[in-house]
Amino acid sequence: MQKPEWLKVKVSQEELKMMQHFLKDMSLNTVCQSADCPNIGECFARKTATFMILGNVCTRGCRFCAVDKGCPQPPDKDEPKRVAEAAWRLGLKHVVVTCVTRDDLPDGGAYHFARTIEELKKIPGITIEVLVSDFGGNDQSIKTVVKAHPHVINHNVETVPRLYSMVRPQADYRRSLNLLKRVKELDDSIYTKSGIMVGLGETEQEVVDVMKDLRNIKCDMMTIGQYLRPSSKHIEVAEYVTPEQFDKYKKIGYDIGFKYVASGPLVRSSYHAGEAMNRL
Ligand code: SF4
Ligand code: SF4
Repeated sequence: MQKPEWLKVKVSQEELKMMQHFLKDMSLNTVCQSADCPNIGECFARKTATFMILGNVCTRGCRFCAVDKGCPQPPDKDEPKRVAEAAWRLGLKHVVVTCVTRDDLPDGGAYHFARTIEELKKIPGITIEVLVSDFGGNDQSIKTVVKAHPHVINHNVETVPRLYSMVRPQADYRRSLNLLKRVKELDDSIYTKSGIMVGLGETEQEVVDVMKDLRNIKCDMMTIGQYLRPSSKHIEVAEYVTPEQFDKYKKIGYDIGFKYVASGPLVRSSYHAGEAMNRL
């Protein structure tokens, strides 16, 4: 299927290379690179990135995702400090940290997240957003991250429940919702956020139902973006959703009570995340 004009973006090679060198020097991974994010040119030019901790090899095999799958290395104990140093050197006001899913670790990497949050908190005035895995539903892991008290805990439900077996077979819609629910139960001063990709064959009603499910568990923020196929091995795009339809989802999201909704073809869960914080 031909990509429509609204999905074509220009990338400045110079800015891209500078940031790539910086990240390589710091031995850090970003989801921007690992997931082939279409916004990489814009975000790297603004000296912003989403750090991906716990390696760049995932234990799951979601059929939409470009991150490598396999057996990951043990967590790098110095990585939390390097993430904080990179955030400080880039002068970030808001930092987003995500991870690969680590089903091989008993805590799913929660302790490593907590240590990263602790290091980032040493930077005066910075706000911290973590985009976590579902930790296999491990309640103790959720508690560990909540206790470290980032400003935002984000966990993407990614798609509508009907498509889970096709899109993310090792995940569970109710388990993902429960993680976001538990965060609010444990500490409602932490903002929660979630996101989905559209264009996978879902209906408008199914998207609205997901939005309502998220509001029912007091989720504060939501992102909606177009699914883009990373390669011919990945699941096909069913539809390129129009900008008008994205605007409609945004309006519905605000009408049902989200504090912030980003909805647009190129929206990703960390896209302009700092601006979202400023609007809360
Ligand atoms: S939208 Fe997020 S993942 Fe994409 S390039 Fe920007 S910071 Fe990275
Ligand atoms: S769990 Fe996350 S990183 Fe791993 S394959 Fe799925 S979307 Fe990609």
